[in-house]
Amino acid sequence: MSGNRGVVYVGPGKVEVRDIDDPKFEDPRGRKIEHAVILKILATNICGSDQHMVRGRTTAPEGLVLGHEITGEVIEKGADVEMLDVGDIVSVPFNVACGRCRTCRNGDTGVCLTVNDGRAGGAYGYVDMGGWIGGQARYVMIPYADFNLLKFPDRDRARAKIRDLTMLTDILPTGFHGAVKAGVGVGSTVYVAGAGPVGLAAAASARILGAAVVMIGDYNKDRLEHARKVGFEPIDLGSHDRLGELVANVTGAPEVDSAIDAVGFEAVGHSGKEQPAAVLNQMMEITRAAGSIGIPGLYVTEDPGAVEESAKTGNLSLRLGLGWAKSQSLHTGQTPVIRYNRQLMNAILYDRLPIADIVNAQVIGLEEAPTGYETFDRGAAVKFVIDPHDAIAR
Ligand code: ZN
Ligand code: ZN
Repeated sequence: MSGNRGVVYVGPGKVEVRDIDDPKFEDPRGRKIEHAVILKILATNICGSDQHMVRGRTTAPEGLVLGHEITGEVIEKGADVEMLDVGDIVSVPFNVACGRCRTCRNGDTGVCLTVNDGRAGGAYGYVDMGGWIGGQARYVMIPYADFNLLKFPDRDRARAKIRDLTMLTDILPTGFHGAVKAGVGVGSTVYVAGAGPVGLAAAASARILGAAVVMIGDYNKDRLEHARKVGFEPIDLGSHDRLGELVANVTGAPEVDSAIDAVGFEAVGHSGKEQPAAVLNQMMEITRAAGSIGIPGLYVTEDPGAVEESAKTGNLSLRLGLGWAKSQSLHTGQTPVIRYNRQLMNAILYDRLPIADIVNAQVIGLEEAPTGYETFDRGAAVKFVIDPHDAIAR
């Protein structure tokens, strides 16, 4: 290991690639740990949830090393690591989880109780998620390695499919969890809000789960065109103010069985103005009675940039009475990646889920990351995969 560099948040709208410390066998509280590994990072993606921080919409501190979507090769391991070896290629779930607490033992690794002093749930390179150093870098430390890491069965096959497998760290399980929690099954009619990478991953998940039709709504024409190209029904939200009518144009009925929110708190209403509850309210309107709504889109407890005073503490103008009257189920929260990543890995390895093409993965070098952030923030129909060691064929 020599010369670590990483993507650093340096203030609203700005990231830089800087020299950073080499990873150490030490947790954020400064305690020595032996259950960790050091990874040489082979792929690490820019995520929509990073954008919330970079736009200054969170309380992220300047100097934070970003990156929670990490795939890499084990180059060092602590004395307590029993199931992994140097040379293994592994996928890192973005949730940091101890594997020992009550919620981890139930498989709810998105809300581990021990890895974050401030609240339930930890993640790498993310505000309020426990101080674990991010992995948009050349090297990173991963704790509780035996529990957290998914080892790929074959190094060569893993390398050949790395553009797809890198989506296992977050967006693919996140989209899949949204589809599962929205009750998608054989023959379901499905609406996905948001045609960004998580929305496309949710749509791909709905398809593999057997949905009859998958619609994706957005205002962004490039993203809608890409969604159409990869086989989904685009819904141009700018073309009508009643989503139910747009849905009925596709299916003949104004309601769907399952809806998935892949937008989150920076939602925009038909007026073009930010309305943090706009998507949630639309979902309750267009989901049928007794239908389910999966909400993998991110909502926050602190939003200093919110347009409404109440939204600054995560209070939204939700029409919950409508959802109640229709007996709908709503499911929120981070996905517990471990629950899904092994099955999704196999779906990729056996050519059932071409997720890299579906989300339009584009590989860039580490030094190009700031440009990647800008391009993604402009709404490009692309998912950037950073290749910090120039290990992926372009
Ligand atoms: Zn992510
Ligand atoms: Zn735990």
